[in-house]
Amino acid sequence: VRLHADWVLSADGLVNRGVVDVVGPRLGYVGPAQGAPPPPGPERVVGGLLMPGLVNAHAHSPMTLMRGAGDDLPLMRWLTEVMWPREGRMTAEDAWWGMTLGSAEMLLAGVTTSCEMYLFEDALADAVAASGARLVMTPGVLSVLHADAFGAGSGRLGAIAEFHGRWQGAAGGRISVGVAPHSAYDLGVERCAELAALARDLDAVLHLHLCETADEDAALRASHGGRRTTALLHDAGVFDGRVLAAHAVWLDDTDLDLLAASGVAVAHCPVSNMKLGSGVARVADMVTRGIAVGLGTDGPASNDTLDLWEEVKLAPLLARVTSLDPLALSASEALTMATAGGARAVGLERVGALAEGWAADLIRLDLDRPSFIPTTSPDELLAHVVWAGPSRLVTDVWVAGDHVVVDGQVATVDLPRARAEIQQRGQRLAAEAGT
Ligand SMILES: [Zn+2]
Repeated sequence: VRLHADWVLSADGLVNRGVVDVVGPRLGYVGPAQGAPPPPGPERVVGGLLMPGLVNAHAHSPMTLMRGAGDDLPLMRWLTEVMWPREGRMTAEDAWWGMTLGSAEMLLAGVTTSCEMYLFEDALADAVAASGARLVMTPGVLSVLHADAFGAGSGRLGAIAEFHGRWQGAAGGRISVGVAPHSAYDLGVERCAELAALARDLDAVLHLHLCETADEDAALRASHGGRRTTALLHDAGVFDGRVLAAHAVWLDDTDLDLLAASGVAVAHCPVSNMKLGSGVARVADMVTRGIAVGLGTDGPASNDTLDLWEEVKLAPLLARVTSLDPLALSASEALTMATAGGARAVGLERVGALAEGWAADLIRLDLDRPSFIPTTSPDELLAHVVWAGPSRLVTDVWVAGDHVVVDGQVATVDLPRARAEIQQRGQRLAAEAGT
């Protein structure tokens, strides 16, 4: 199909009166309508702005089941008193519904890919295979939850390798698989190194939390002669493969240099970091060093939404207000982090930009809304996209060429059923946990 839009955000910039050719799961010609090659199939005038779908680089989406729980508690009390008691009682079926609702929420907001760190990886992969989104599933390893089924014991590595064999490239290439040690402070450096070796063997992305809060690694540092977590992980070879570090807030210059030299990518989660009072990641310094940075919502229980447009706006606002520099992060840099930059950070190739041969993951924004008026230049339109609240303006979404959100309605998920399931299951978990 050939889509005609008023504007197309192509890899080369904004094109007025542009077309996007969708050929199966990939894009064909993208560019001006005038001088375009013959269309690959039927032509449709959709109007509005067509741009790449957003990439949520760090999420725990089944936490939709715990949304809003334990609000206003500090991180460790929130985890130990509210989150883990409920998560510890989750079943695979709960996780399937939690992911299904989360996937619908993201698709409706124009988020076409998410990189998930969670247990119950089969349920999540199955849910996203059905919802039609793109998924980087990184099965979690942590010490505190579901130790019988998913614990940090020796069987977990084999189970992750098997999962990789079943799901890597599945659902028409929409699903890829990584490995996710929760963190060095939870698992220890050696266990992280073992999982990093597994990720390298599988040629998969290694996804871990890194220095989210100031004191989380105090015990780890104390037991390693005061050495910093980033240096410990680097020296243990954890950064030797493809690595995605979530948060990366409490890093000094040496840490940032190590990440840059090792090619470690960062998932920046400004809303979660602000809500939990964790701190401010040094994003501008990361960009200067050439570190690949994506944007993540983190779990919906600490955000409390999966709407990545909030990060698109708040990442540059936070970078600017903390550096007192209105040039700290530009609107187009923020958009790149949420699209092609995020895709690169989570290890996906040819995803996140509208260009020939790239994945046909695109969204349509309605421009006939008050907050998009006036638009007197392409730069102004880009500014509106970042600053003027656009998730409400997403009307249509295609993933791998499939039209999954049509006129504001998600076509692949039974949303009333999903809402009812999460309401009932969330209530059950709260009651069972007694929180
Ligand atoms: Zn997280």
